[in-house]
Amino acid sequence: MTQSPFAIDIEKVRQGKVEMQVHEKPAALELADIEGVTLDQPVTGHLTYSMSGSDIIIQGNLSTHYCSTCVRCLEPACADVNTKIRLFFLAKGDKDDPTAFDEEVEDLDVDYYSGELLDPLPQIRDAILLEIPVLPVCSEDCKGLCPQCGVNHNKQSCNCQQPEIVTEHDAWKNKLKGFKLE
Ligand SMILES: [Zn+2]
Ligand SMILES: [Zn+2]
Repeated sequence: MTQSPFAIDIEKVRQGKVEMQVHEKPAALELADIEGVTLDQPVTGHLTYSMSGSDIIIQGNLSTHYCSTCVRCLEPACADVNTKIRLFFLAKGDKDDPTAFDEEVEDLDVDYYSGELLDPLPQIRDAILLEIPVLPVCSEDCKGLCPQCGVNHNKQSCNCQQPEIVTEHDAWKNKLKGFKLE
C-alpha cells in the first residue's frame, strides 16, 4: 500500500505534537471516484497528531465540496462538506481495554496501529464520506418533479391533476425507484 498524505512516522508524534496543514486533491484521498458523487474542490483543513501513553489521537477539521444529484428533482445537488476528525488509535497488543476509557473519549473512533507508520487514510476517508448525505437535495425546499408529467416544479408548474396530496415521503420514494443505494 502506498502512503497517503496523512501517513505519519510514529516516532515524530512520540517526540511531540505534530500539526499538519491539509490541502489535497480528492484523488489523493481515493475520493475521486465515488459512485454518484463528485468532490470538486480540494480537501483542506488541519490535523493534529498527538500521543497519550502509547495511544495516538488525531483531531482536526477537513473541508471540501461535493456535487451529486438531487433525489427530488434530479438536478445537481452541491454543498460544502465539513468534517470533524476525531480518531483514536490504540497500540496493537496493548492490554488496555478500549471500553475502559471514560466518556470523554467515548465519541472518538477507536482503531489500532502497529509498527512505526500510521496511515489513517481509511478512517479519514470514511469520516468525510459520512458527511455526504445519502439522499442529497438541491435545496431543502426543492419541490421535485411532477410525478405525472415530470416537469420540474422548481422551474414551472403544470396542470396535472394531483390525485391526492403526495406526501414528501411518497415523492421521494418515486424518485428513488431506479436509484441504487449502496
Ligand atoms: Zn432538487
Ligand atoms: Zn405535471
